[in-house]
Amino acid sequence: MAEICDVCGEPLDEDNVSRCLICGGKFHMAWSIDAPVKNCGQAWFDERYCSLGFICTPCINENPQLRRSLIETGGTLP
Ligand SMILES: [Zn+2]
Ligand SMILES: [Zn+2]
Repeated sequence: MAEICDVCGEPLDEDNVSRCLICGGKFHMAWSIDAPVKNCGQAWFDERYCSLGFICTPCINENPQLRRSLIETGGTLP
């Protein structure tokens, strides 16, 4: 019954999951440095609404203009 990541097709666990702002798909997003999960998307800061969201890698690739607002996590989430 495990849910599947819309990006890589592998099972999601309950904790390290985000929902994409653009396509609405769920994908892997590690919420702690130690989480044994790769990131299939990135945190993104919406300058118009001053809000934080998440976008999956395929949507970033389709919308290169989003890249300048991406937040570099690099495995250093607080
Ligand atoms: Zn994934
Ligand atoms: Zn997406």
